[in-house]
Amino acid sequence: MTNTADKGDRLASAVSRIRGLLGEANCLVEPAAVEPYVVDFRRLYHGSTPLVALPSTTAEVSAVLAVCNELGVGVVPHGGNTSYCGGATPHAAGDEIVVGLRRLNRIRELDPANHSLVAEAGCVLADVQRAAESVERLFPLALGSEGSCQIGGNLSTNAGGLAAVKYGVARDLVLGLEVVLADGRVLDELKSLRKDNTGYDLRHLFLGAEGTLGIITAASLKLLPRPRTIETLFAAVADPEAALELLGRLRVASGDDVTTFELLPRSAVELVCEHVNPTADPLGGTHAWYVLCEVSSARDDPSLRAAIELELERALEAGLVIDAVFATSGPQREALWRLRESIPEAQRRAGASLKHDVSVPVASLPAFVARASAAALAVVPDARLVTYGHAGDGNLHFNLSVARDGDDALFLARGSDVEAAVLDIVREFRGSISAEHGIGQLKRAQLKSYKGPVALSVMHSIKQALDPNGIMNPGKVLADR
Ligand SMILES: Cc1cc2nc3c(=O)[nH]c(=O)nc-3n(C[C@H](O)[C@H](O)[C@H](O)COP(=O)(O)OP(=O)(O)OC[C@H]3O[C@@H](n4cnc5c(N)ncnc54)[C@H](O)[C@@H]3O)c2cc1C
Repeated sequence: MTNTADKGDRLASAVSRIRGLLGEANCLVEPAAVEPYVVDFRRLYHGSTPLVALPSTTAEVSAVLAVCNELGVGVVPHGGNTSYCGGATPHAAGDEIVVGLRRLNRIRELDPANHSLVAEAGCVLADVQRAAESVERLFPLALGSEGSCQIGGNLSTNAGGLAAVKYGVARDLVLGLEVVLADGRVLDELKSLRKDNTGYDLRHLFLGAEGTLGIITAASLKLLPRPRTIETLFAAVADPEAALELLGRLRVASGDDVTTFELLPRSAVELVCEHVNPTADPLGGTHAWYVLCEVSSARDDPSLRAAIELELERALEAGLVIDAVFATSGPQREALWRLRESIPEAQRRAGASLKHDVSVPVASLPAFVARASAAALAVVPDARLVTYGHAGDGNLHFNLSVARDGDDALFLARGSDVEAAVLDIVREFRGSISAEHGIGQLKRAQLKSYKGPVALSVMHSIKQALDPNGIMNPGKVLADR
């Protein structure tokens, strides 16, 4: 028997055994049913699989992985499929099984006194937020995709999102994890403790691992008091430096209650007005940069607004802020958020784009924007720079859109030159080439050249120790298939 035939036999055997384990109703094999699981959100990758397994318990996940490990068959964990780097998409060879987590979707425990809840991996993020709200608590992870991404996917990508400036990224919100390892053993570290110094903190291995070390089946998550006062403001600022100065001032004025601090260039506002909503611009006039800032407090605190207004007046006098508006109602707040969240859609409608999800130390952000903008425009002089994002975390989506009436193909052909120019500058600032979207299959090559050799070697050792047969999400993050 040839190797390929042997591989085919093993795959067929795994499919048949898993169908027996989960039952036909929980195994998708028809092409139309499988299709949503083999194309990534951005439609960069189109894979293939003979089976999408849909377990509904940790024991079922464990049984599926045990079979795949025994037979050496690759497994691709699949959450809400909203990630940007193709991590949840199987290889086109069709020799991997997809494990969809959506049926693992129970809130196992809701403990307001401990400020924690335990959610299964397939819970949609918005449902986790709602569960917290139902007991007057906040689960602060917030993303534009929260209506469809799953908590298991959020933890596996270590998602950042819109409130990281105050609450940190997904990793910072996890108290404990339950993970099924590649060989099917269940690692039960599902504790809801604030303090636990009992050796290596294993949860952190799986947070951000993009399904390459095991399948997260449940997590104990930190909750906070639900905010009772929220102030949202949109301000025009002279430049990114002024934006950061404003951030520093608002942090102090609010008692460090700034939850969101997003930077937007004029180009983003114009793209949204042109392609999504002509009335999206909340301010008159044309300004180079804007910030969308939210400040929130767990108290009913009428003085918060006054404190922010006073600081804004000072910032206006100092020339940091040119104009500003507060949201005075729920719909106004939603409109400000819609403007921010419509930027990706506006860019999509404006034609081809080149995207870089990078971070640098917050204080270096203005210098980075200046250097990277010049370097990118040296390669594609007529491109439109659309640099926006989570400035409060030093994380920018350093994006470019094709020139109006420009040629998409010619523009995209310069993509790797633009990327090299931008990422070299990221490296000079000791920044990150992937601030919040992960590596998946899209950025494996960049990881190799931008991560140090010692770090890469340690990562390979961890992979080898936890997944010696290389079945977990092959060809993602580290491994070449
Ligand atoms: C409109 C929009 C806005 C977004 N905004 C943000 C943002 O602000 N910040 C941000 O960080 N991201 C953002 N994203 C990207 C995306 O939503 C996040 O990466 C999210 O965390 C992915 O979750 P998911 O459930 O969709 O994961 P998937 O795409 O299904 O999977 C992501 C990776 O995790 C693995 N995986 C999934 N579930 C598990 C599990 N249970 N165990 C082990 N591995 C698993 C997959 O194999 C894959 O490698 C946005 C996306 C969209 C479409």
